Amino acid sequence: MKRFLRGLLLKIVYPLMMLLAAFIKGSREGFQLWTIRMNNRLVGADTVHASNILLLLPHCLQIADCDVRITHNIQNCKRCGRCEIKDLIGIAEESGLKLFVATGGTIARRIVKDARPDAIIAIACERDLSSGIVDTYPMPVIGILNERPHGPCLNTQVDIEKVKETIRAMAKK
Ligand code: SF4
Repeated sequence: MKRFLRGLLLKIVYPLMMLLAAFIKGSREGFQLWTIRMNNRLVGADTVHASNILLLLPHCLQIADCDVRITHNIQNCKRCGRCEIKDLIGIAEESGLKLFVATGGTIARRIVKDARPDAIIAIACERDLSSGIVDTYPMPVIGILNERPHGPCLNTQVDIEKVKETIRAMAKK
């Protein structure tokens, strides 16, 4: 039933809302956020073995003046702690999750295809999360919004406690 409702939300209601957003100025982000929240509620109860969960991070979580290249291999991070990439690597290692950084939708789709997870926890903005959740349906995806104190796509942050909570709720004990 939940899968059917997610399908209805993501394949029927979401496209209609995006159509409506073209006529209602400033409504798009709100519609996207509502879709992410509804989706998360419908996915919520799913439990997957941690090693089959993909934690997908946006590149903008990496601080802009760090010259380490983490997009191909996040383990290149020197774990200096200037950004939350260090903490997220620690969380993924501790929980046994697959962890990747995506620079955009195309790369994210490729990562999902290669990693073949059973479920995804994705961190991104409203636009990338909602479109990613729609694209990967029926894959269970929980979306966590990034925080953007410096504006979009620059030195973004995430609520680390929320990430841990989401993993605890999704991962099979
Ligand atoms: S923790 Fe340090 S080395 Fe790792 S991505 Fe952030 S700034 Fe770069």
